[in-house]
Amino acid sequence: MGLQIILANPRGFCAGVDRAILLVERALMLFGKPVYVRHAIVHNQYVVRELTRRGAIFVENVAAIPPRAVVIFSAHGSSQAVRQQAEARQLRIFDAICPLVTKVHMEVRKLSEDGYECILIGHQGHPEVEGTMGQFNKDGGGKIYLVEDIQQAQRLQVHSPTRLAYVTQTTLSVDDTRDIVKALKQRFPLIKEPPKDDICYATQNRQDAVKKLASHCDLILVLGSRNSSNSNRLCEIARRKQTTAYLIDSPGQINPAWLTGVKTLGITAGASAPEKLVQDTLAFFRANYTNCVVRDDGGKREQVVFNLPAAIRNLPLTEPVRWKSLSELGNVLARTQAPKMK
Ligand code: SF4
Repeated sequence: MGLQIILANPRGFCAGVDRAILLVERALMLFGKPVYVRHAIVHNQYVVRELTRRGAIFVENVAAIPPRAVVIFSAHGSSQAVRQQAEARQLRIFDAICPLVTKVHMEVRKLSEDGYECILIGHQGHPEVEGTMGQFNKDGGGKIYLVEDIQQAQRLQVHSPTRLAYVTQTTLSVDDTRDIVKALKQRFPLIKEPPKDDICYATQNRQDAVKKLASHCDLILVLGSRNSSNSNRLCEIARRKQTTAYLIDSPGQINPAWLTGVKTLGITAGASAPEKLVQDTLAFFRANYTNCVVRDDGGKREQVVFNLPAAIRNLPLTEPVRWKSLSELGNVLARTQAPKMK
């Protein structure tokens, strides 16, 4: 019996991840090794390993970086406190924050300046949550609260229920967030909504694609790392559709027993996982299973591109590129010219 493999679309790298990786690569070309990166630039083991091999040094604390060195802040965004620490060390800062996370940061800053308290719906311990909470200006006496689930929304006590707003992490489950927002609105009827959804286009599209895939697959494999929020959500969504799903970093983690009785296998990848890992997984199945048929689910095509920060885009390159860009491995066209923001 053959194995039918269906590839989700869209899958893998989003525009924010692509931009963040390009930024590190360009910094390595411009300044040479080492370039310091605060936190994993994106949550993918393969990407971090490959950039380390090329000369990036990943640190959690800016105090570990020598004064005046080049530092890149990760795509998840950083707090004002981290920026101040980096400035105090006279580090040369390039920020790979995704523009869609910047949008949430600006909302939080504006809310605190306008005298609102703020609820952030998100996951404790995620760097995006740390960065977003770190934008709230407490000088006015207000507070930012973290809510992770409906139970917390129902129990939350705030100082100013009539001047209260909410924002969300960009990579949450769309369905879970809708339920948490509903609970918040019941509890705080005057709560102010973000002008536009904070969950990003890439998260939404990958979740829609995996829902569609789960409806006609016996098993789903999600390429992505354990610490990747959006990859974990893809797995959860498939399981809620009663389809068995596993999160894997590479085909080396596939347990052959998972394939017992499987006729139709779905494959997708989180927003930080390069297409190379999907192709490696296909190669694994072609090598180990007879009569493998692969087809694409033909979903939405994304054309979003984010420009690199002007501070690095405008510096002239003096070194030729000696290696294949990770973005090419992400199935995105290599760009020697600055891409346009759409
Ligand atoms: Fe930006 Fe969304 Fe990608 Fe995160 S997942 S980097 S918010 S586009």
